[in-house]
Amino acid sequence: MLRAPVAGMLKMCGEEGAPSLRSEQGVVFDIQRFSIHDGPGIRTTVFLMGCNLRCEWCQNPESFLAGPTVIFDEQACTGCRQCAATCEHGAVWFNKGKRVVAPSCIGCGRCAATCRSNALEKVGDVQNVDAIIAEVLEDVPFYNNSGGGMTLSGGEPLLRVEFATTLLQRAKSHGIHTCVETAGAVLTETFTAVMPYVDLFYLDLKHMDEKVHVSLTGKSNQQILANADMLIRQGAAVEFRMPLIPERNDHPENLDRIAAFLRDHGVHQLRLLPYRPYYLDKLRKLGRSSTTASSIGTPTPADLDRVRSHLLRQRISTVVDA
Ligand code: SF4
Ligand code: SF4
Repeated sequence: MLRAPVAGMLKMCGEEGAPSLRSEQGVVFDIQRFSIHDGPGIRTTVFLMGCNLRCEWCQNPESFLAGPTVIFDEQACTGCRQCAATCEHGAVWFNKGKRVVAPSCIGCGRCAATCRSNALEKVGDVQNVDAIIAEVLEDVPFYNNSGGGMTLSGGEPLLRVEFATTLLQRAKSHGIHTCVETAGAVLTETFTAVMPYVDLFYLDLKHMDEKVHVSLTGKSNQQILANADMLIRQGAAVEFRMPLIPERNDHPENLDRIAAFLRDHGVHQLRLLPYRPYYLDKLRKLGRSSTTASSIGTPTPADLDRVRSHLLRQRISTVVDA
């Protein structure tokens, strides 16, 4: 089914289906070097596009798309129409002065390269395993000195399991510590495939009530909890994280249920990721400004203290990520 043109926004087609890729190719939207928040030590974090959850607080909403895209800053656009003249696919036109993009846009980024006002920005590139590993290897001395390594993040980095497995396997073949940041909503077989090459999983627990989980993220939590259970039983190293979203998941009942789940699995520590509204500008450029997202408050120090004390009373200590 063809989708209707989208005002201002380019390349929506990747939202549901990834571009046609070979197994050793993935769509990378960032490679962040010298990262200190995505696992132990100094790390290189590879962010992969594509996600099967739709959390309203997602800090990387561009990663919902599975393929390269071009995002549009309407406030910076001068209306020069150079983008329409550049596009070989006839995917851009103007209707009553409003920029319109057709589904035929392939996200090639030519228009972004010619926009003199920086109103367009290409997000995501198809990269192969060799190129990514070559970049990761550049920082081996830093990993060795700090206990760091490579982290796969996203998006959901385990959506394309063959690619993720190859990447992790190659990193391990160079003796590099590996970490995967995952929402966990993938088949258990996916975890089984990558487990031999993963030193540490960061796994998010967002909400313990299935219906609420569906309403907040678009997906059930049952597969996530089953995968968490399997990983612990199989002896995998897992650090559990909880994005702390005021009035969404920080109430006592949810905290109690998370604490009980952790204790039942012999885990006594939780990483808290306090909500930060840094992504609202990205949403605007994606043409998805959301009143729901902008209504979420930032946790105050008092909110954090309350949550941490509550969890501590439940015998769960907390680490707060910046
Ligand atoms: S080239 Fe850039 S500034 Fe010109 S119309 Fe297109 S998006 Fe706007
Ligand atoms: S130049 Fe490429 S990215 Fe830009 S509108 Fe055309 S097909 Fe899409």
